[in-house]
Amino acid sequence: MNTEILKEKQLRATPFRKKVLEVFLNNEHAISAQDIEEALGKFDRITLYRTIKAFIKNGVIHEIAMPGEVKRMALCDPVCNHDDGLHEHNHVHFQCRKCDEVYCVEVEELPDIRLKGFKVEEVEVQAKGICQNCR
Ligand SMILES: [Zn+2]
Ligand SMILES: [Zn+2]
Ligand SMILES: [Zn+2]
Repeated sequence: MNTEILKEKQLRATPFRKKVLEVFLNNEHAISAQDIEEALGKFDRITLYRTIKAFIKNGVIHEIAMPGEVKRMALCDPVCNHDDGLHEHNHVHFQCRKCDEVYCVEVEELPDIRLKGFKVEEVEVQAKGICQNCR
C-alpha cells in the first residue's frame, strides 16, 4: 500500500521514503517535522528535508499553517491536483481546542469563493472546536 501512493505520485519508493510515509499513515491527525523526527529515531536530516520537499511537490503531503503555530503536514486527498505546486483538497483543517491536534476533515464541497479581479487558485478553510476524541 505504501509503495502504491508513492508510485501514483510518481516517486520512487525508496526504503526511507516508505518509512516517512508510514509515519503519516500511522497518524490520523496532521504532524510536525519534529513528530516525524521523533518517530524515525535515527535519520539523516538532509535526506528527511529532501523527502518532505519531494512529498509536498508531488502531492503526497501538504503543509498546514495554523496562525501562530508550528507548521504541520498531512497526507493529501487522492484527488489532490499538485500541478505547479498547488494543492487541491476537499477538506477543512480543523483544530481541536482541547488536544490542539489538527485534522483534515473531508467535506462534500468547499465554498466556491469568487473574488472580483482576482483568480483564486487555492482555498483553505480552517475551523476550530472540539474533536471527536475530546467530546
Ligand atoms: Zn495536496
Ligand atoms: Zn481533541
Ligand atoms: Zn489537509
